[in-house]
Amino acid sequence: MSREKSPELEILERSGALLNGHFELTSGRHSDRYFQCALALQYPEFVQALCCRITDEFATEQINCVIAPAVGGIPVTQEVGRLLDIRSLFAERQDGAMTLRRGFKIEPGERVLVVEDVVTTGGSVQEVVQLVQEIGAEVVGVGAIVDRSNGTVDFGVPFFAAYCQEVITWPQVECPLCRKQQPVNKPGSRSL
Ligand SMILES: [Zn+2]
Repeated sequence: MSREKSPELEILERSGALLNGHFELTSGRHSDRYFQCALALQYPEFVQALCCRITDEFATEQINCVIAPAVGGIPVTQEVGRLLDIRSLFAERQDGAMTLRRGFKIEPGERVLVVEDVVTTGGSVQEVVQLVQEIGAEVVGVGAIVDRSNGTVDFGVPFFAAYCQEVITWPQVECPLCRKQQPVNKPGSRSL
């Protein structure tokens, strides 16, 4: 590993959001890394540094408002909205479908940035993209703090993540760390 650590990786590790070791994930699979983005987003300076990467990427776009799927994306939409001085909204599930509640409104023709903390399958983000497009507004792009999709997502609009984390997991029986008899950690909250 001769490459220098990126400032984004530095933040994720310093805040404890990204841990190295031997973990059993909620899926039951094993991994040499554990990730909990919220731990990085609890620090204002880190949220700002990470969200600046997103606003820099879309700096040339005229953006009217920013929206995220609840819950993980809320700190991201708040900070991006603050940095760009634009409205910051979030969508949430009602009867299973991503919906604008609380009186949030997007007008047809508005230019909207969709943001998220972590993109894994991209399902929630895709639903928010559709929600915005069905209103008749334009999605200028998707910005995330961390891309854990291993390059598998396509939202049909430009996608940028401040940090791409390659995710490698194994079924327990194939786990090389188990084979080395390294003790396994079982983090409490959801990860994958
Ligand atoms: Zn293992």
